[in-house]
Amino acid sequence: MLRDASGPFYVSWAGAGVVGRFTPLDSAGFTAHAVSTRRSGDVSLMGLDKQHAAGVAGDMTGLEDIAWCEQVHGADVLAVERGGLAGEADAMVTRTPGLGLMGFSADCPLVLAADAETGAVGMAHASWRGTVRGVTGGMVRRMCELYGARAEDVVACVAPSAGPCCYEVGRDVLDAAVEHMGESAQRYFLRRRRGGLCFDLWGANLHWLTQAGLDKANVHIAPVCTICHNELFPSYRAEGDSAGRFIAVIGR
Ligand SMILES: [Zn+2]
Repeated sequence: MLRDASGPFYVSWAGAGVVGRFTPLDSAGFTAHAVSTRRSGDVSLMGLDKQHAAGVAGDMTGLEDIAWCEQVHGADVLAVERGGLAGEADAMVTRTPGLGLMGFSADCPLVLAADAETGAVGMAHASWRGTVRGVTGGMVRRMCELYGARAEDVVACVAPSAGPCCYEVGRDVLDAAVEHMGESAQRYFLRRRRGGLCFDLWGANLHWLTQAGLDKANVHIAPVCTICHNELFPSYRAEGDSAGRFIAVIGR
């Protein structure tokens, strides 16, 4: 599946090991981006050592400076202009050349956004809590407000994350989704035969991105579930507290 060159997401050998990339971001031309795998950098350390992870992010992309957030499973968006810890939030936007925005995940969708017209980029960590609160839509709106991007020009890519095949959740997640997204959020919950409930994080983030004005054709979801593909990506669901983190990074 990961070798499917016709899809939006592929993994290949790069200087730093096996790295994932999105063809729509490659063809956007102005961005540098990458998604780490177990075979690029020491992912077991990445959850703990952000400086180390920033070094891997720089190696994978050639970006000089790397910014990250203390991710708190919310929906706040920070505008950043320099590397290092930007603050407590789950999304960042920038238009500063050479600055990479880095997100961490073990199952949560990391969403990379880029606008070729203005050179604005964004990174969101869309955990289920951030997803139901619309963190990805908020990221796009900030790119528009701060940098003059037009939402219909923005390209968004959803990195490998817990898929609707595996992401079982409790009733509390459904209740939170309905609270923030309305009754129509029910459509993102798939009932399993034995009574379990699976949340479609990909569908819910597509909802928020198109709600923010993106063209559906400009939203690209890597069809790779981290729970199914734990051999390539750390997964909290598959490994529990011992799970490392993989990273995604984007800059101009
Ligand atoms: Zn799966």
